[in-house]
Amino acid sequence: TTTELSPAARVDTLAAQTGRRVALVYEGSTYGYAALADQARRLAAVLAAGGTTEGDRVVYLGGNSVTFLTTFLAAARLGAVFVPVNSRLTAPEVAIVLSDCAPHTLVTEPEYRPVAEAASPGSARLLSVPGDPAATAGEAPPSPWETLPAAAGPAPEPVHCGPDRIAMLAYTSGTTGRPKGVELTHGNLWWNGVNQDMVATSAPLDVTLVVAPLFHTAPLGSFALRTLMRGGTVVLRRGFEAGSMLADLETYGVTTVFAVPAMFAAVAAHEGFAAADLSALRTAVTAGAPAPASLIERYRERGIALQQAYGLTETLFAAYLPADRIATHSASVGLPLPYTEIRIVDPAGDLAGAGGLPPGERGEVCVRAPTVARGYRGKPEATAEVFADGWFRTGDIGYLDPDGYLYLVDRRKDMIIVGGDNVYSAEVEQVLARFPDVEDVAVVGVPDEHEGESVVAIVTGRAAPGPTGPRARPALAELRRFAESELARYKLPTRVVHADRIPRNAMGKLDKPVIRAALADRDESVFDAA
Ligand code: ATP
Repeated sequence: TTTELSPAARVDTLAAQTGRRVALVYEGSTYGYAALADQARRLAAVLAAGGTTEGDRVVYLGGNSVTFLTTFLAAARLGAVFVPVNSRLTAPEVAIVLSDCAPHTLVTEPEYRPVAEAASPGSARLLSVPGDPAATAGEAPPSPWETLPAAAGPAPEPVHCGPDRIAMLAYTSGTTGRPKGVELTHGNLWWNGVNQDMVATSAPLDVTLVVAPLFHTAPLGSFALRTLMRGGTVVLRRGFEAGSMLADLETYGVTTVFAVPAMFAAVAAHEGFAAADLSALRTAVTAGAPAPASLIERYRERGIALQQAYGLTETLFAAYLPADRIATHSASVGLPLPYTEIRIVDPAGDLAGAGGLPPGERGEVCVRAPTVARGYRGKPEATAEVFADGWFRTGDIGYLDPDGYLYLVDRRKDMIIVGGDNVYSAEVEQVLARFPDVEDVAVVGVPDEHEGESVVAIVTGRAAPGPTGPRARPALAELRRFAESELARYKLPTRVVHADRIPRNAMGKLDKPVIRAALADRDESVFDAA
């Protein structure tokens, strides 16, 4: 029907129309639309035979894989709710997610079986998909696991997926507290695709490279599923590696790529960057963490417009910087997408009925759009705190310029209050990152008996050229002088610490809780290579 929004139905249609067109290239193996649809149907048949039905949660715990995508498609076919779980979580962390979503079935790969088994509440059906054939040939999984049979009965007819049906639960990483299951509908995912198709240079025959973990909504929804719904080709990698990303861009004639800034930085630092043939690339999008101006400049010099996008799990993509505005607005994360409204409000004020602050004034970024999630599963209070009248409070501090471009200043929870003055950690980070020998930097607030909090910075030096060269150590006295020339006194770090690496999560975001904890009680370098 015309309101059928499920990517699963779309993939079925494409399978019938252009079944041999390549839908997916996973680690070198190629799947046409017919083959992908067939795998999804078989998995749907296996799930249905085990009793999975509308509204049931189907968890996938594993890495980027073909099964990741077919589990999404199979769940949608049954009207079930797909729940991707962060594959880096430990068993106790996975257990929190599983007890929250109470899955009917848990689909996993052999290497994740121990975590899944330890975390599973016991009531869930455990389904193991064959992993790397070399590692698992002939090996029957231990009970209580079932393996995906080679042949399955016919799949049930697809359940109608209208805009309000929940497509997936995306769990927030929990850096802001206990993980929350964000309820995303088929309508949210569909509008997210439409929003981007309105502004991005994309075409049905796009070749989209996905190297970021699919359990994040940007790589999954905005790039993998969106490409499949349009009949393009997804080149999917198990994980990110700079050299392989560069080779993929060239080999597959990739037209669209998404990665977080840290990944784009690693590619730019790769020895093959200057010579690679990237002439097919039309759209390179980065989001999830701030993209330094120097990074955007490096890609510009290489003829590539690195476009920033902004969004959260709860809003999907909300803003996007058009390629022809990068030169004039490189520090902006973009304009609101066509069906998205962005408003800046007083963080302490009431959301309902609040008018927006005038251009240039800093406040909390709020988003209203058909891409905004329904809320958090089973958490009416947490939902009411941030979702109101269709608006969502992002927890990000930012401002709009007079032309409507959005600039991010910091996350509310990363703001440091020094004796009553607000210090935006991101602002201090941006200044320190411009110092020549500094490669990576994080700024956090640590408890201070006089000022309440004090500003502490942790920096890594630039690595010498070559794979194992030593890192430069930025001269702290000079770094301090540089910071003094750029920042008001109250924003200056009281302490700067060297490290070999700075903890970031899978999406390249600074892991501030870990950094804060380490810096609060240590004077010496932290996070040095062991
Ligand atoms: P949680 O701990 O709640 O799970 P998270 O950081 O993992 O937090 P996500 O939804 O993955 O949650 O990330 C959204 C956040 O990423 C935004 O609130 C914003 O702070 C940051 N972000 C997204 N895009 C950009 C961008 N282009 N530039 C800077 N920061 C960005």
